[in-house]
Amino acid sequence: MPIRLHDSLTRELRELTPAHPDGIFRFYNCGPTVYAPAHIGNFRTFVVNDVLRRLLELEFGADKVKHVRNLTDVDDKTIRRAREEGRPLGDVTRQWTEKFHADCAALNCLPPHAEPRATDPQFLKEQVNMIEVLMERGNAYRAPDGSVYFKVSSFDNYGRLSRVKERELQPGSALKAAAADADEKEDGSDFALWKAWKSDDGSNKWTGPRGAAPGRPGWHIECSAMSKAILGETIDLHTGGVDLLFPHHENEIAQSECCNGVQFSRHWYHSEHLLVDGKKMSKSLGNLYTLDDLKAKGFSAMAVRYALLMGHPRKQLNFTLDSLHAAESAIGKLKALADKLILAAQKTEADFYDSTTILRRNPDPISDFSPLGLDALKDDLNFPAALGALFTDRKALDLGGKSVLAKAEFHSLAKTVFVLGLDLHRTIATNAPPAITALAEKRWAAKLAKDYAGADASRKELTAAGWAMLDGKDGYKLEPLKK
Ligand code: AMP
Ligand code: ZN
Repeated sequence: MPIRLHDSLTRELRELTPAHPDGIFRFYNCGPTVYAPAHIGNFRTFVVNDVLRRLLELEFGADKVKHVRNLTDVDDKTIRRAREEGRPLGDVTRQWTEKFHADCAALNCLPPHAEPRATDPQFLKEQVNMIEVLMERGNAYRAPDGSVYFKVSSFDNYGRLSRVKERELQPGSALKAAAADADEKEDGSDFALWKAWKSDDGSNKWTGPRGAAPGRPGWHIECSAMSKAILGETIDLHTGGVDLLFPHHENEIAQSECCNGVQFSRHWYHSEHLLVDGKKMSKSLGNLYTLDDLKAKGFSAMAVRYALLMGHPRKQLNFTLDSLHAAESAIGKLKALADKLILAAQKTEADFYDSTTILRRNPDPISDFSPLGLDALKDDLNFPAALGALFTDRKALDLGGKSVLAKAEFHSLAKTVFVLGLDLHRTIATNAPPAITALAEKRWAAKLAKDYAGADASRKELTAAGWAMLDGKDGYKLEPLKK
């Protein structure tokens, strides 16, 4: 069964396939703005995308998926934060990038294959080049202050994704609010590609496109330029939270298609928001939980991941602490099932999480014996149906010493658990204090990023604090050092 996913452009369920003859599926996911900890609403979007990435790897092979996710490390918010704290912008964004990586590792999200930053000199150059092409082609113009704007009227297809032309931009409408939110021009039509320096920007300025003033790139051009530089002019899938559909993704399409003259993304996917008390979880409403807030309440990161998977990703999900209790209990039951299958199939815990075997084509001829929820995941990421299937099948399991059946069930469960990204055996928040957990997450993130010196330094700190960190293939355990 192929993977079918809702496409926001055609509003249909469409099969995901790689278009390029090299067979590599090109996947771009808009990343975070790094000036504060991401909240678990943001992480709902990143966890959904992580499941998608894992599902694509299972479908096409680990080496046949290229996943790019950017870091927005310059915009009004990052600059304001640096100014308020009297620190260089790069220090602030580095701090929050590290925290983002640590939280992603705690939530068992696979790191993307490339994570370009907006202010990286290589990608600044790509952004400037793209703006220059748009100016040469008459799709962009220089404003009197030296900023550069995209001329929306120059692109006939503008509004196809969001149907913005059909839904007039009324004052107070969601679209108008989204446009204002994203710091666009007041009329919500032409948008900034390059922002001329102003005094609030402090020392943060770069050489702009020919004829423009020194300043900084606009937000939208980041994704168009980085996606092109790393994945090429046409990609297979572009995703983000539903708030990015307009104007961000509409603007990305306009920039990329006017510059390159070919289709930008073959498929668009938007996941819905996490709510608290019926309202979108957001920094501006102050109704947010970070991962650390929830760990401090005694919940494990894996329970948070599970709770974020409890609703259909295209429906809003209301977050409650009760859902975390339910998630902890569900993980316990799945762990008991995994342990039973590990024993019955004469395998080890390491085998259960061995992604190399899981992703190998046909590791076992009987491995597809029972899909255990995989079909539901392939059908538009139907998480509730997939989790439901896991539990139904769990009840139906009667191994009775039949080791052939046990092996098949073991592979099926391992596969589904891999795609859901659940590390059932990772015991993090149970007995270690939050400071120790944070240190362990930092070390794990460093290890994943192959920063071995950083990982060693964190291990030394852990040892000094009396904790041992035992590394597994896909996770770790914390144990107090014996005195
Ligand atoms: P930001 O760091 O604000 O650019 O957001 C990063 C990602 O989180 C984007 O894809 C947003 O669409 C997404 N996002 C923001 N708030 C929520 C929420 N309450 N629920 C789900 N996703 C969200
Ligand atoms: Zn983007």
